[in-house]
Amino acid sequence: MSEDKPAIPEISAAIVDTIAAISTPPGRGGIGIVRLSGPDSASIAAQLVSLRQPLEHSRARLASVLDEAESSQQLDEAIITFYAAPNSYTGDDLIEIAAHGSPIVLDLLLRRALSLGARLANPGEFTERAFLSGKLDLTQAEAVRDLIEAQTLTQARQAASQMGGALSRRVAPLKQSLVELIALLEAGIDFGEDDVDVTPQSEIARRIDSLIPPLAALEASFARGRIVHDGLTMAIVGRPNAGKSSLFNRLVERDRAIVTAIPGTTRDLVTERISLDGIPLELVDTAGLRDTLEEIEQLGIERSRQALADAAIVLIVLDATQPLNHEERSLLAAVHDRSALVAINKSDLASDPQSQDLIHTDESAAERFHIPAVPTSALTGDGITALREKILQLATGGAAAEPGLLTNLRQQQTIVTARAALEDARRANITSIPHEMILLDLYRTLWALDSLTGQTTPDDILNLIFTTFCIGK
Ligand code: GDP
Repeated sequence: MSEDKPAIPEISAAIVDTIAAISTPPGRGGIGIVRLSGPDSASIAAQLVSLRQPLEHSRARLASVLDEAESSQQLDEAIITFYAAPNSYTGDDLIEIAAHGSPIVLDLLLRRALSLGARLANPGEFTERAFLSGKLDLTQAEAVRDLIEAQTLTQARQAASQMGGALSRRVAPLKQSLVELIALLEAGIDFGEDDVDVTPQSEIARRIDSLIPPLAALEASFARGRIVHDGLTMAIVGRPNAGKSSLFNRLVERDRAIVTAIPGTTRDLVTERISLDGIPLELVDTAGLRDTLEEIEQLGIERSRQALADAAIVLIVLDATQPLNHEERSLLAAVHDRSALVAINKSDLASDPQSQDLIHTDESAAERFHIPAVPTSALTGDGITALREKILQLATGGAAAEPGLLTNLRQQQTIVTARAALEDARRANITSIPHEMILLDLYRTLWALDSLTGQTTPDDILNLIFTTFCIGK
């Protein structure tokens, strides 16, 4: 009898070793934490420090860090917290030793842990283990890294929302509908000769069509997700003395760039990062664009042109008291298809009727090139709020903050692939191709959605992701 049974392949559970790392940043601090994860964590910890009470899940224990294993000289006092598998961050037994934040003590603890059989953790290996044990999906693991690296509160909030599973939750109903469609077609193929009705073409079309708009919306969410995640650069350009440095200082909210009445003062790029409604924006103040024979200024102008070419947003500063010159006209023409806006600066001087005329000329010149224009006064602060709003609008493309945004290129690529495969399925259905063929496209769609959350992500991609983490995370 037993010989008839198919041979069951021997499943060898992946051997999990015990890893250790210093999880707090290098340098001195109030406390520093050495973390251990793996089956030997508790026994290694018990040899590392002198515990006053036995370890217990989720309890903090006071312990002495002894100078040498054989001596009883106390070097430091530490708090040891034990999390028993599977109720820990990694899903394995996990120990956190919080000592005083002395690099000497932390190094000693780590070296001892390694000599007691632990292995130095790779970058991101704690979070990788959390992912492999199903504690986090891949988008959540990526969000852990993003949270650590966040530089603005908005970035931190975006990461926290993704860590809480917002993106996975947004994808889950799409996956569910896709799986239902696959099941329907599979049933039609498997039992087609029995009583199961073959799904009509129109029903397949309806189901596929219902999936395309939410996938497209998800793909579009990358526009905002990306700028919150990565930030962007805005170059401030214009003729000398238009007020670029003054506007730059207004946006930065301090005197960062040198402001003088002497044209050609800004020779090199001055950059500063600000947070515009939580979006990290790098401002680049450039040398005024003009013809000059002066060598240093020429170099500065060359760099300005480079900054202008590289920036995601261009802010052209015009002087409301001066008519447009040739350089400015060609600048307006050059940026007409880019994210650009015009500040018509020195609006405080525009009470003079002649300047009023100039402002209107400049505004209509900007309009002609379809570039939004805002009158500003860097001197009085008038129009700066409107300028910020316009910059924000350009930066976000008007896309609202919503939960479950795509935040990196990997995530975006999975959705692009899913959508393309679904489009293939839609076209295949129209041509009345056999359902087996439509299913191939639907499975490709499902595979792409699964790779977003990490269910079908190849190992090399996983390695790539986790190596971008810091050690100890
Ligand atoms: P940049 O060469 O384009 O960077 O111009 P600056 O910011 O150095 O300004 C050149 C001169 O214009 C300085 O004397 C500023 O004080 C003055 N200025 C800048 N913005 C304004 C403004 O909005 N109103 C007035 N009245 N003067 C301004």
